[in-house]
Amino acid sequence: MREVAFGTPLADVLSGAEMAQPLLLGGYHGTWLRPSQLKGLAVSRKDIAAAGASIGAGVLLPLAEGWCPLVRTAALVDYLAGQSAGRCGPCRNGLPAMAEALRDLVHRGGPAGRVEELCGLVTRRGACAHPDGTARLVASMLARFPDEVDSHALGICRGNRREVFA
Ligand code: SF4
Repeated sequence: MREVAFGTPLADVLSGAEMAQPLLLGGYHGTWLRPSQLKGLAVSRKDIAAAGASIGAGVLLPLAEGWCPLVRTAALVDYLAGQSAGRCGPCRNGLPAMAEALRDLVHRGGPAGRVEELCGLVTRRGACAHPDGTARLVASMLARFPDEVDSHALGICRGNRREVFA
């Protein structure tokens, strides 16, 4: 854990290698940013909001080198879908369906449209913000990595050296 003053350049917080990777900003319910969006960004609510993200829980998760952000997101959504009591519809039905649709897109070359549709269906439908945060993570993946989404829909992963399509 590290404490920094608001206004500190992100480049003073992350290493050069981390600045060259996609960053999940705000924790598992956060927002993906591309490396090009990190240049000149400061740890400031205003700067981060201008980049279309939120500092949220204050957690910075740089993607490990050689990993695909889609594969990482699918794994996170698998985890998040299992982290509720399933008392509300979006957690009982929506998040498991979202996890399945993401697995289909990321690992089996399925369509992105179903994933996008589920983001809309679960948002603001739960008693708490767990479904909304999960949808925010997934929506940011779709928005920040359109080329990777297109590749995966064709059954090709360019980023994850550990991932092999059948
Ligand atoms: S929306 Fe919140 S309260 Fe409802 S089941 Fe999901 S985590 Fe629980």
